[in-house]
Amino acid sequence: MKKQEFIGSKINDRKIRYLFHDPGTSRIEAVLARGDRKLSRALAIAAEEGFVFDAWDECFHYDKWLSVFEKADIDPSFYANRAFGKDEVLPWDIIDCGVDKSFFLRESQKAYEEKTTPNCREMCSACGANKLGGERSCCPKAKK
Ligand code: SF4
Repeated sequence: MKKQEFIGSKINDRKIRYLFHDPGTSRIEAVLARGDRKLSRALAIAAEEGFVFDAWDECFHYDKWLSVFEKADIDPSFYANRAFGKDEVLPWDIIDCGVDKSFFLRESQKAYEEKTTPNCREMCSACGANKLGGERSCCPKAKK
């Protein structure tokens, strides 16, 4: 919220429209997006307590979600407010989208170094997607 206020305070041009997401909603979304199977307890409790249409501002109650996490013995900060370690096994590692995890880690490092990756049509960066193959693949290498 402080960051949002800071950015808002620096925008003095009336032509610029500053939109931002509610930080409470973002935090709950972060917990749900980064959570593992332990989170199922919280989702079951939320369902039992009648949580519906939480994407709508008028139906979203941040404090009620914190209460649900407490009842499920979930620390929301464990999911939403920490960096994942590079060697950490992540809940979604079981999903094979074709692109190798090592590629994502390399890309993450490059982003911090402000380095770009060439377009696939110019040079293959060996992301791993070519192994999926098939006509519907977005990898130009797989279509050859
Ligand atoms: S050409 Fe294919 S394998 Fe190479 S980086 Fe692009 S998508 Fe990945």
